[in-house]
Formats: sequence, C-alpha cells, structure tokens
Amino acid sequence: MTRRGRRPLWSVVMDAVLLATLLAVGLAGSVTAYRSLASRAASQQRELLNAMGQSVVGAFDLQLVRAIEALQVSAQMLSAQGPPSREQFQRHGAALLGESSTLTLLEWQPVVPQAQLAEFERRAARELPGYRVVEPQAGPAGDGFIPAQRRETHVPVLHSWPETGAALGVDMAFDPRRMRSKWLARDAGSPVASETFGLIRRGQTGPAASGFAVSAPVYRTVRPMGVEARRAALTGFLAGVIEVPELMREAALRADANELDLFVFDQDEQHRLIYSSAGSEPFRADAHDTTLSVDVGGRPWQLVLRPRAGFVGAGADELPLAALAAGVAATLLVALAVARSLAIRRRLERTEAVLAEDRKHLTNVLDGTGAGTWDWHCDSGRLIINERWAEMLGRSREELEPATGATWQRLCHAVDLVDANAALQRHLQGEADRFSAEFRMRHADGHWVWVQSTGRIFERDADGRALRLAGTHMDISRRKADQQRLQDDARALEAANRQLRDLAILDALTGAFNRRHFSDVCLAALAGAQRGQSVALCMLDIDHFKAYNDHHGHQAGDAVLQAVAQTLKGRLKRSTDALFRLGGEEFGVIFSAASAQAAQDFVGQLRTALQALALPHPHSAAGIVTASFGLAWWAAPTPKLTPEAMYGLADEALYEAKRSGRDRIATRCFEAGEGEVARSSC
Ligand code: GH3
Ligand code: MG
Ligand code: MG
Repeated sequence: MTRRGRRPLWSVVMDAVLLATLLAVGLAGSVTAYRSLASRAASQQRELLNAMGQSVVGAFDLQLVRAIEALQVSAQMLSAQGPPSREQFQRHGAALLGESSTLTLLEWQPVVPQAQLAEFERRAARELPGYRVVEPQAGPAGDGFIPAQRRETHVPVLHSWPETGAALGVDMAFDPRRMRSKWLARDAGSPVASETFGLIRRGQTGPAASGFAVSAPVYRTVRPMGVEARRAALTGFLAGVIEVPELMREAALRADANELDLFVFDQDEQHRLIYSSAGSEPFRADAHDTTLSVDVGGRPWQLVLRPRAGFVGAGADELPLAALAAGVAATLLVALAVARSLAIRRRLERTEAVLAEDRKHLTNVLDGTGAGTWDWHCDSGRLIINERWAEMLGRSREELEPATGATWQRLCHAVDLVDANAALQRHLQGEADRFSAEFRMRHADGHWVWVQSTGRIFERDADGRALRLAGTHMDISRRKADQQRLQDDARALEAANRQLRDLAILDALTGAFNRRHFSDVCLAALAGAQRGQSVALCMLDIDHFKAYNDHHGHQAGDAVLQAVAQTLKGRLKRSTDALFRLGGEEFGVIFSAASAQAAQDFVGQLRTALQALALPHPHSAAGIVTASFGLAWWAAPTPKLTPEAMYGLADEALYEAKRSGRDRIATRCFEAGEGEVARSSC
C-alpha cells in the first residue's frame, strides 16, 4: 500500500502561519480600534463634562462676582461716608440684598479696641437695648453665648440685615479662622471670602447652615494706599454672608439635570468638602471625575463633577467595548471559517489524491485488460468513450466525436445489432441485471471486429428511469476465431467419425449395410420382436450374374449392383427396415410385417420394383435382370432365435427359389423360433 493523501510539511506550516497571522492581525486591529474609540469616547466625555462644568460654574460664579463687587462698592461708600447708623445700614442692606440673590445676610462689623469696648456697648445699647459684645460659649452649656473675652481688638456685629436671627453682638475676633480672611481683606483693600463654617444665627436652633462670609474692609479714608495705611485706617468690615447650599442650588440643579453629582472642595482647607449634592455619602475619588477650579472671593475652590449611571455620555463607554467584542468575534469567526475551509481543502486534497490513485489504478486495470469504456447518457444520446474504444476499431477518439448511440449503431453489424438492442431493452426494462452482448463492429480497414459489451445502469431519475449506463468493450475477435476454428474442427471430426462408422458398417459399392453389420441389426430386430413384434428376413440373389459380368463386363455388373441396391433401399418403409449386401450379388432385407401375407406382399413389391428397372440381361429368361427371393417370417420369435438361424432359414428359402427356376419368391413362415414350432401354412 502507498501512503495516500499525506500532505507536505511546508503546506501544513503555511496553513498554520496563515491562521496565526489572521488571528494576530484581527485581534491587533480590534484592540487598536478599541483603544482609539475608547480614547475618543473618553475625550468626548471629558469635553462634555468640561462644558457641563462651565455651565455649572456659570450658575453661581457670575452672581458671586456681582455680590462681591456690590460689597466692594458698598464698603467704599461706607469708607467715604463713615460708619452707618442702624437705620442707614438697614436701608442699605435691604437694597443690596434685594439686588443679590446670593447674599443672605449683610452685617456691619466695626473694629473696636478693648479700651473702647465698654463705650461701644453703651452707645450701641441706645439703639438696641441690651446689646452686648459676646462670643459663642465653647461646649453645649447655656444659651451658647458669653460676654466677649478680653482681647486687643474686637470685631462685633453691630448692624445686620435682616436682623431676625442675626448674630448681633457676636465678636468675630473670637475665631481666628474667621478673622484670617478679614485681615487679608484689610491688607488687600478688597473683599476676601472666609473658609466655610457653620453660620451663627442667634435665637435659632437646629444644625447651622454651612456658609462663608465675604468681608470687605471699610476705612476712614477712601482707598488708603499700602498695607500700613490700610491697617491704620481700618474702621470695620462690611460682611456679606453667603450660604453654600443656597449659592450652589442652581448649579446643583444643572448638574442634576445632566445626571451629575456635584462636590465642592475648599482647597485652602486641605481640600475640605464643603458641599455635596450626593447627600451625606463620603467622597471617594473616581476615575470619571471632572474637576474645575474656581476663585471664590480670593479662595481657590475645586468643583468635582461625577457622572451618575444615567449620565447622557455614559453610553459612550459601551461603544468601544462593543467594537472590541465585535472585532474579536469577527476575527474568531473569520479564523474559524478559514480554518474550516483549510480543513475542507485538506480533505479535498486527500480525496483528490485517493481519486487520482484510484483513477490510475483503474486506468492500469483497463490498460491491462485492453478494455474500451463507454458512458451513455440516455436522454441526450451522448456517448462518452475512451481512446481504447476507438482504437479497437482502428480509429481515434477525435475522429468519432461527438459520439452518440447512433455512432455505435452505425458501426455495428446489422444482424448483431438486433440482438444487442434486444439485450439492451431487457436491461432497461429490469429483466436483466446487466447489459451483455456480443456483436461485430466495422474496423476502419473494413473487416469486422468481434466486441463483447458489458454494462449496467448507474444513474436513474426519481421515477427509476435510466439516465446513464456505463460499461466496457472487449475485443473478442481472437476468441471468436478460436471458437469458429473449434467448431469447424468438431464438424470435421464428426464427419470423419461418421465416415469411419459408415466404412465399418456400410458396403462401399452399394451403400447398403455390410455383412459385418448384419448380426447387430438382426439382434436389434430380434430385441424389438421380443416385445411382441414379428420379424422377417428376405434374401435375394441376382440370377445368372456371372453370365452378365461375362457379357457386359465387371464394371457394368457393379452398376447393376448399385442400381439394384438403390431400388431396394427406396422401397424400405420403416427406420428399422434395413438392406444388407451379404456377399457378391446377394442382398438381405430385414423388415417387420404384421402377417405372413404382408411380408410376402412387401417382397413381391421388391421383386416388381427390380423388374421395373428393366436392366437388359441377354442370358436371363426374361431378358432383364431378375433375382430369386427367399423369405423367412416369424410371427413371434423367441430369444432362442439367432441371426445365424435366421440367415440359414432365409438362405434355405432362397435355395428353394433358385432350384424352382429362379425369378421367384420362396417363403418360410414360423409361429415362433425354428425347431420349437412347426412351420405355418404359408
Ligand atoms: P445363379 O443364377 O445360379 O445364381 O447363377 P450365377 O451365375 O449368378 O451364380 P454364381 O455363383 O455362379 O456366380 C456368381 C457371379 O457373380 C460370379 C461373379 O462373376 C459375380 N460377381 C460376384 N461378385 C461380383 C462383383 O462384386 N461385381 C461383379 N461385377 N460381379 C460379381
Ligand atoms: Mg450368388
Ligand atoms: Mg446368382
């Protein structure tokens, strides 16, 4: 066996490299597409968040700036006019707060040295009875306020708008944190925001609102130049209180509308969270956060916007992942398809190799057998033949093409075609398993080539009707010639045998049975007679034949013998009747006759026929050739009767006929065998 369908190593390696390259390129492309899409989506989201951040900042920044500007203008006005009276301040405060939705409280906080505190309280009490400079009590005891402690400078709230719940009298100097922004504002000559803290509301309970104050410095002169001059000229602070939740309300609404959470940090306070739209949840930095920096009255704030699950740009995250998944899936699918097609190609190659080998094997077999092949398409009549088919007839395939069933019929011997067509019909109608026929086909040289055609249907339609038949042609001319020769030889042998047999039992001159055969025929006749039949033997001898020979010559005598034999043979009726030449001019006839009379009648007919020949014989009494007849007839011979006995009794009768004058019949009749039964009356 050969190793069939084994692929070369390089082909396997090439396929593997192709698959690996396909996978690598596909996966790399998918990852690249993913990265590019992801980066674009991230930058789009960043841009979107930035734009939203600007919008969120815009919601409070402008108002804040206006409020600070208004405070600045008011402070400058107070610097020019001097400290306001309660009434003046309230008018001014009502006007200012009416214009700004950001400022929730406006306070006048004069700077009071410790030495002037008592006088200050006394004067203030004139307008506000019971006015005292106080500070919040540390811890939860009392109403929360105690008289301000001694300190170099006090900054108490003198006027407030609105007054309800205001921190009137509270000395801001108690808290260095609150004071830090005020001293910065004093030195800078412009408003400065404080850090955020719980707002003090006297007479109010519950958690303090988170907010901050923007303090604008008020001097004795307008715009003192330099820090020292400002410190020396400071009279107090105009403080506008801003509540962070109120400030951020619009911004938070905008953020919320865009599915964003908003966090605000004060950067100066170690990044302290001062506002969260996400409730009380602790803040944790997130990769999706977008941060913006805002200057709030000189304080750096940081806004953090965090997209919530329903954020409008959130879906953008899914596109790159979907693209990556689609890319990987497409790559795998293509790789799978390619691997599958490679596997199919491998299988096809193997099948083709096997087919090629089978075809080669088949061709070898056909070459070896010398068979021609044919494939007949029944409907179109098209006949596909191989080179050998045509070669067998001394032709080329090109010469015969396009071949059809008619091509075959045209080349086929008309006589053989009838049988071949009949054989074809038998197969087509299902009466024969296969088509098989022998016929002659015309060779290009003109002679006939004997062909044996064998085939069968190998394709049928849905109704079982034959569509295609295929088979082979074998040149059987030699076999046919051999067969013919054998037949001729057999015939010649048969003739020779027949001749030999005839020589053994026939007389060469007359064609009658010879003496040797007499006993056999006699025995056969006697065997038939045993079944109840009669038997008769007639012997005849030509009269004066010696004289005939002497007169006409021996040859003429032979002719007479032949004529006599032919005449007698012509009178025999049954197949069992037989004529013998018993010697010289002496003949014997074995025949059957139902009665003695019938036997005598038959012998009489023989004598008459001989006479009718009228062969001239000058030495005969009648002038023509005559004969003497001795007839012996047995009605029912027994097994004891022998050919010799029969001969003897007939010869005896012949002798009697001769003695009685020749040209006559002498008869002996017996009921049974000689010696057993007496002669009959005949
Ligand atoms: P009879 O009437 O008594 O029979 O007289 P015959 O002359 O016929 O008898 P015979 O026996 O004396 O003579 C027989 C003759 O038959 C002798 C021979 O010349 C002739 N004869 C025998 N055999 C042949 C033969 O084969 N050819 C020819 N031409 N003559 C033959
Ligand atoms: Mg004789
Ligand atoms: Mg004679």
